[in-house]
Amino acid sequence: MNVILVGPPGAGKGTQAAVLEEKTKLKHVASGDLFRQHMLNETPLGLQARSFVSRGELVPDDIVIGMILDRVFQPDCSRGVIFDGFPRTQEQAQALAHALQLHHKTLDAVVFLSAPRDTLLKRIVGRQTCRTCQTPYNLYYNPSREEGMCDLCNGTLYTRPDDNLETARHRLDVYMAQTMPLIEHYRSLGLLHEVDGLGDVHEVTARVVQQLGLASTEAEEHCLTQP
Ligand code: ADP
Ligand code: ADP
Ligand code: ZN
Repeated sequence: MNVILVGPPGAGKGTQAAVLEEKTKLKHVASGDLFRQHMLNETPLGLQARSFVSRGELVPDDIVIGMILDRVFQPDCSRGVIFDGFPRTQEQAQALAHALQLHHKTLDAVVFLSAPRDTLLKRIVGRQTCRTCQTPYNLYYNPSREEGMCDLCNGTLYTRPDDNLETARHRLDVYMAQTMPLIEHYRSLGLLHEVDGLGDVHEVTARVVQQLGLASTEAEEHCLTQP
């Protein structure tokens, strides 16, 4: 099974993808996380991406496509992938469709997470992430118990440099212009599942699980494993 999570910055894609990874054993692959790792390690790809990411622009398609296709056909992705933040343009969507076809794999569902703009901005500027275990926090919605410290591992929390208000606004505009058209594309293919991203994390997860039909699968598996 391959699933795409699409939606504006701050919609909750990363948060929900991490929960789904636990529930399904699909591999969570986030283009933004891969870029941040490359930038941290100062790889050639990271150096190419840096100025685009810091300005809130999309990294050029050929760079993104190469990076993602390298990642998702590795053995640990063979059971399927939850794509988080990719594709973001028509060209990326076409490249993914083509690559999946070549590998005799299918795209099974596209989950479109959304929330009002003011909520998105508050979520983005309040976002904090643990440097050690990557657990997401939020200054407004889900603060850590100790300021700046991860509840789970005592790691340091950091704020992404592109999560300032000005760049966040620009990223939302970029999303509207370059990524929104993909929604209609996937709707026309009959793959789109629209999920309201407003509400607490568990409520949103329940909606995603229901849309993907995972709830009944889990219940069936439970029945099958009972004597
Ligand atoms: P995206 O990957 O779509 O940019 P994230 O999953 O990183 O979004 O979430 C953005 C911020 O909002 C994070 O700080 C996260 O903890 C918080 N967040 C995610 N989902 C919710 C929710 N349902 N309610 C409140 N805050 C949320
Ligand atoms: P968010 O979902 O919160 O906007 P991401 O972590 O997905 O953030 O992306 C951070 C940045 O990485 C983007 O603003 C962009 O510069 C770059 N990026 C991530 N995914 C893509 C993509 N599919 N195409 C182009 N650029 C991307
Ligand atoms: Zn941690």
